[in-house]
Amino acid sequence: MRKKIVAGNWKMNMVLSEGIELAKSVNKHLVEHPTEKATAVLCTPFIHLAPVAEILKDTQTGLGAQNCASEASGAYTGEISAEMIKSAGAQYVIIGHSERRSYYNEDDSLIYKKTFLALKSGLKVIFCCGEVLQEREEQIHFEVVKKQLLDGLFNLQKEDLKNIIIAYEPVWAIGTGLTASPQQAQEMHLFIRTLIQERYGKEIADETSILYGGSCKPSNAAEIFSMPDVDGGLIGGASLKKDDFCAIISAI
Ligand code: PEP
Repeated sequence: MRKKIVAGNWKMNMVLSEGIELAKSVNKHLVEHPTEKATAVLCTPFIHLAPVAEILKDTQTGLGAQNCASEASGAYTGEISAEMIKSAGAQYVIIGHSERRSYYNEDDSLIYKKTFLALKSGLKVIFCCGEVLQEREEQIHFEVVKKQLLDGLFNLQKEDLKNIIIAYEPVWAIGTGLTASPQQAQEMHLFIRTLIQERYGKEIADETSILYGGSCKPSNAAEIFSMPDVDGGLIGGASLKKDDFCAIISAI
């Protein structure tokens, strides 16, 4: 049975003390209300990783970064390597988020390099893909996502896929309040799973968790998560509020 995951993407929000407070309150809730059904993951800014790792130590909650460098180490001023992220106590990293693709011009080949290095460092990768509004309006959203997977992911070996979680995030739904309908999410998730099956076989396809992301909130999470190929969510805005994030986890 593939894993259900609800990952919070804090983005560039909260100073350290606020992040620590949020991690403590989410952790307290999850310790008091444990659920076997889903793994929660907090994807924090880099500087929050080490202190939040202490808070989450010996719990079931995972910790992730939101990006990593495309080089392993060396003279890359200001960059943070996958190995550093791992050494701070994280187990996950988000790669290929649409904000990285659009604001920092990250293309599929750079995303592939980052993914490769992250896996090599022992991290699990939350690999984001998704189309922009114009691409959906032009009805080319399946082709767009297919290309992102072919060029950004599918050069990996079969055994690497065990450490890949895919997040389908239609860009028009991120931070906009617009959400894909459960049917729109399901058809894209099924499409992605079929592509994985064609490339890596049925067993890998059945085991790969595919998360939905884009204005997921307590009021819509249960319906989206009830779709057969939706294995949880990548949550932006709502992950900044303990009650909302915990309610979304409970919706699994
Ligand atoms: C995201 O940025 O990954 C995301 C899904 O954001 P939001 O939930 O705010 O739309």
